[in-house]
Amino acid sequence: MYFGYSYVMRFPLATSCLLLVVSCATPVTHKKPEVGLAPPVASPSADFTLTQKIEYWQSKIPSMTSADRSEAYLMIGELQIEAKQANEARITFYQALRGELSASEIARAEKGIGLSYFLSSQPSLGLGHLEKSLTHLDAASKAEASYLMSAFSGETTAFASSAVAERMNVYLVSANLKAPRGVSASAGAIHVDINRGEWRAAGMRSNWDKMTAPFRITVHHTAEPFSSLSKVAACAEVKNIQNQHMNERSPSGWADIGYHFLIDRAGNVIAGRSLDAQGAHASGTNNIGNIGICLLGNFVAQPSRGTDYAVAQALLPAQLDALTGLVDQLRQEYSIKSSNVYGHKELKNTECPGPVLSRWVAGYRRTQS
Ligand SMILES: [Zn+2]
Repeated sequence: MYFGYSYVMRFPLATSCLLLVVSCATPVTHKKPEVGLAPPVASPSADFTLTQKIEYWQSKIPSMTSADRSEAYLMIGELQIEAKQANEARITFYQALRGELSASEIARAEKGIGLSYFLSSQPSLGLGHLEKSLTHLDAASKAEASYLMSAFSGETTAFASSAVAERMNVYLVSANLKAPRGVSASAGAIHVDINRGEWRAAGMRSNWDKMTAPFRITVHHTAEPFSSLSKVAACAEVKNIQNQHMNERSPSGWADIGYHFLIDRAGNVIAGRSLDAQGAHASGTNNIGNIGICLLGNFVAQPSRGTDYAVAQALLPAQLDALTGLVDQLRQEYSIKSSNVYGHKELKNTECPGPVLSRWVAGYRRTQS
């Protein structure tokens, strides 16, 4: 029985109409129906963690037919890759390959083995597997495998897009490799000075919404005192913000850092969340089509938070120059009107981004057509 790509379709629920769709649309030819064996397996609860999903499916393996088992191993392996369990994933993919798989499933297992070697800092061992996977992968997976192979060989890649780079850079970081030449690790045409690999970004989790066409830009400050001009310190600060957003924000942590771009005190533009993904910076529906830019520093006096926050920091000219350049580029790239550039407080009851930056935003709207 061929289950398709998603977990739901792969392990159909007894009552699911998806089961009917899959059964009707897909001729069952290569596997005999199992009468009285292996009742359909329900999908795990949607709020399971990766580890819980892996354990859940592993617990179901003994009751599966041998053919279904191979597909289950393939899926468990992919979850283990997502959970960065390199060695476990590799073993699982080899278990899958011992069974009955289609050419495209074999390719997915080979790609998975390749990724596992990148995760365990042995990219040279992964190359052959990635290469073997290319012929039968779908276009998106092929682009990912090609991206890693190009990074290893130091060549440019014809397949590079910002979305592929976003997904694959975590493997490059594990393998101590740099992004392929000519590839911006962030937002395609938008220039960044510091890409996600440089600040050692964690990979984006799966709980994100696709960005619809950007039509507005919102400016923020971090509201945390930060005065260093060093790139290393800025990278650490951004990594810290990502940790907070992914691990401390309700309900179960955000998919990634909330902002699409950050600007450090020296005026470096830092790649945040991919522009392919809707941001998490302006609350709820305010995030729709909204590019979030955050300047490092606290630009509003907040004496109630303690002495460190008592005085607003001064905005540095380099930060404002970088902000102007970035907003200009984004407006040109996405045809955004200057009247759609906001300070956070214009969308929500907050002091962000403070009086001086708010004046900058108002001035920008006045002076740009
Ligand atoms: Zn804000």
